[in-house]
Amino acid sequence: MSAFADVAAAVGHTPLIRLRQASQQTGCEILGKAEFANPGGSIKDRTALGLLLDAERRGLLRPGGTIVEGTAGNTGIGLALIGASRGYRALITMPDTQSREKIDALRITGAEVRLVPAAPYADPNHYAHVARRLAEAMNLQEPGSAWFADQFDNTANRDFHAATTGVEIWEQTGGRIDGFVCATGTGGTLAGVGRALKARNPAVTIALADPAGSALASYVNEGELKSAGNSISEGIGSSRVTANFRDAPIDLAWSIGDEESVPWVHALMAGEGLNVGGSSGVNVAGAVRLARALGPGHTIVTVLADAGSRYRAKLFNPAFLHAKGIPVPAWLQRAFPEADT
Ligand code: PMP
Repeated sequence: MSAFADVAAAVGHTPLIRLRQASQQTGCEILGKAEFANPGGSIKDRTALGLLLDAERRGLLRPGGTIVEGTAGNTGIGLALIGASRGYRALITMPDTQSREKIDALRITGAEVRLVPAAPYADPNHYAHVARRLAEAMNLQEPGSAWFADQFDNTANRDFHAATTGVEIWEQTGGRIDGFVCATGTGGTLAGVGRALKARNPAVTIALADPAGSALASYVNEGELKSAGNSISEGIGSSRVTANFRDAPIDLAWSIGDEESVPWVHALMAGEGLNVGGSSGVNVAGAVRLARALGPGHTIVTVLADAGSRYRAKLFNPAFLHAKGIPVPAWLQRAFPEADT
């Protein structure tokens, strides 16, 4: 018999899938790490597990205690699911701009969900600050009752990606990898995988695919946090340098708009049967840019971070896409002829 002991043991070990269209267009082997196959449906299950294991090791989370976190949704889902299997409660703050599907996925885990108005990080009402204060208040009332996971600045996030995502990619490619590219939210994936790959072969190119509206591409290229435009993608982009992102070994960075990334979401669905979310579109667009920078014959890995069904009412909604000026493929228009949600 071959069985995992629990949901935590089923996190990771995700397949690497050849992306046919991107590979054919560039003459490179472009491979997507299928992180949507994690138990909670996203790459953030790894972050959740890494942070949780670290907290347990350091005695920060007592039996029956409450996990508190601010999240765009996916990290909260991972924390709540793994927490449920270990007897913890979860209290999650989330900006109210995130997809209904993610909010609902979080609610059905049994987590207490507090939606807060979207605010910039500098604003004390940003969801991460609200989460930190909630944990502090609980600990004042009952010392040790709450643990703030702090995914942005707790570098256990990055370290777990180095030890799992990065090592898996190295082993799955047999060390024959020339480049890795992805977008960042906390920076955990890019920094962790980047470190793991560079430690094994310093010649591997590490690239950042940054959504429009984020300030990180300009930070990497010009040393200045500047942003322009905006994006319908969720969970990625940043206006600041987090502790996880700070020392990430990044060689190249591009700002990528929705007009370039969302067509990849649709092409992966219609052409390859891959149901992915908006950040994966940015990642694949970034992989194509990296392939063009390196030239044909190279192997490039990126991440398929979560599933498109988590964003049905946005990414696969003709009316929403029309309103945003994003092209709607004919098959999608036919699938929803009423052209509304
Ligand atoms: N894609 C999705 C769908 C996410 O939810 C996140 C994290 N919020 C990311 C990408 C970015 O990953 P990281 O936090 O490791 O930078």
